[in-house]
This record gives sequence, C-alpha cells and structure tokens, in this order.
Amino acid sequence: MEERYEPLKELGSGNFGVARLVRDKKTKELVAVKYIERGKKIGENVMREIINHRSLRHPNIVLFKEVLLTPTHLAIVMEYAAGGELFERICRAGRFSEDEARFFFQQLISGVSYCHSMQICHRDLKLENTLLDGNTTPRLKICDFGYSKSAILHSQPKSTVGTPAYIAPEVLSRKTYDGKIADVWSCGVTLYVMLVGAYPFEDPEDPRSLKKTIERTLRIQYSIPEHVYVSADCRHLLSRIFVANPSERITIPEIKRHPWFLKNLPREPVEAEKNNVDADHIQPTQNIEEIMKIIQEARKPMEGSKVEEQSAVGVVEPNKMSNLKSNSI
Ligand code: ADP
Repeated sequence: MEERYEPLKELGSGNFGVARLVRDKKTKELVAVKYIERGKKIGENVMREIINHRSLRHPNIVLFKEVLLTPTHLAIVMEYAAGGELFERICRAGRFSEDEARFFFQQLISGVSYCHSMQICHRDLKLENTLLDGNTTPRLKICDFGYSKSAILHSQPKSTVGTPAYIAPEVLSRKTYDGKIADVWSCGVTLYVMLVGAYPFEDPEDPRSLKKTIERTLRIQYSIPEHVYVSADCRHLLSRIFVANPSERITIPEIKRHPWFLKNLPREPVEAEKNNVDADHIQPTQNIEEIMKIIQEARKPMEGSKVEEQSAVGVVEPNKMSNLKSNSI
C-alpha cells in the first residue's frame, strides 16, 4: 500500500472505518481509499460491498479500483469524488431549486437504473451516499455498497437495513421485499430533501424520534411546506413514489418516462460518458479469485489484541452543519 500510494488527507469516517485521499505514486492520480480493520470487521457486508461494487461501471457510480492489504487494514481503492457529499451541498444551500434538484435526481436515477440492470439493489440510498466529482457542472456518484444485494448471488432481501428516514414501509415489515422497489422509495426521500431541506416523514415537532418517523412512513404522512414552491408535475412524481404498496409504486423505468423527469434531460448523458469512464479508468483489475484471497486473508484474526488506528494525515473536519445527517442501521 505505502509503496503504491502516498497518503494525503482524511476524507471522513463511517460505520466501518476511515476513508483517505491518497495519490498513486506512479500515475499521480488521486484516489480514495476506505480502510476497514482486519479481523472480525471483515464480514458478509464487506464481502458484498466489494463483490457488488466491483461489478459496476457507470458515470454515476464511484468506480471501484482494487483491494489491498496493509498490516492492519483491508484497503478498498476507488475513484475520488472531489466534490464531497451532496448532503453537504444541501446543508450549505438550505434546499435546491426544482431545476437543480432535477439535475441531480436524473443522475441518481441513471446510476440506480444501471445498478438494477446489473441485478444489484443498493438498499442505503441517501444524500450521504451520493458524492459529487470536482467538475464545475458536478457529476453525481453513488457510493457505499455495504448493504447492497445481488439478485443473482444473494437471497431476496428480508432484513430491515438502511437509514430510518429513507426506509420504505415494506422494509419495516420483516417479510421479504423487492430491493429495487425499496430503492425507488429512498430516491423519493432524496428528491424531497433536495427540494424542501427536511425529511418527508420526520415529525417537525420531534425530528429525532425514530418511532414517529416510522409511524409517519407507514401512514405515508408527508406534506410540502407552503413556502416551498414545487410544481404539479413534481408533486405528482412524489405522490407516485410515496405509495405504501410496492406493487403499485412507480418503477424506475416509469420514472424515466415521467414528464417531470424528462424536462431538461441531458441528451444521452450515460452512453456518451460511459465510453469516457471506460477509456479513462480501465485498470489491470484484479480477478475475483485474487479479491477473494485478499478478503479471506483480511478476515483472519489479527495477531496481538488491539489494532492501533492508523494516524490521520491532515485531518479534515467536514462541515456537518445540521442534524440532518442520517445514520444507517
Ligand atoms: P460509510 O461506509 O460508513 O458510509 P465511508 O467509509 O464510505 O463511510 O465514507 C466515509 C467518508 O469518506 C464519508 O464522509 C464520505 O463522504 C467520504 N468518502 C467515501 N468515499 C469517498 C470517495 N470515493 N471520494 C471522496 N470521499 C469519499
């Protein structure tokens, strides 16, 4: 790891460990590395995250590059999204105009639609898991496949995972559900937060109450504040997403045909840039056997009891301005 990459700064920390910005010493390319402690933290979720993420290649998905072992950590190397989280951008702006929200929503749906076409549902779509690249016209990049499931490799989703404010009613039911349709709900919450700057199913009087958020989700109890302008087409789309019965909820292909979605849709953004992604980033990627070997190695219990956290280089404290931040469960 140290031979190949020069550490630059810490990008942030999540449920599993820290993410750092590093520079490829040979190519000078900036990449992000997510470090997960070796040993018992390398479980089923980490394996899924790597295997599913590795199979995806799309302009609206952070590109997976490789996995490496350090003496203490498993390191997942991926494309660096220099623009940070979309969440931070909302916090700074308060909320987005409908045009701006649509601009990001179109990209979100493009990435999600691609994941689904590869038979992978994400299960934790939210503003914190949508990053932006460094371009002046930002490109949205979906990240964090820690809860993702493949319809080919894994069983049908049943467990309640995700982030309370973004969870679809059927995911709370303890029965099996369709992960793709549940992803649609989370995309709807993301759209609402972009437009309104608050979560749709949180009780404004008691936003921290998980119980109330869940009750309101199950009752589909949401409204758009009077002072926020949202067009009739957009309200219609939200009302088709926030439908309790998954089989009656709008699907991703239907969203892509909805009049609100179609407005100002960039012409064939995906195909044009997909080629770029392929051309720019094709790596001598590891094959699945190599990856599995590294994961198995990382799973082995560490010698010595306590692993020292690697020292951070130039720690950056992201500007978490509000209590909007939502943690996965
Ligand atoms: P978790 O998996 O628990 O959500 P991550 O380890 O994925 O946390 O991310 C930790 C932090 O690092 C987040 O704040 C995220 O914004 C940042 N980050 C993760 N991946 C990247 C990336 N590819 N480019 C830029 N920042 C990233």
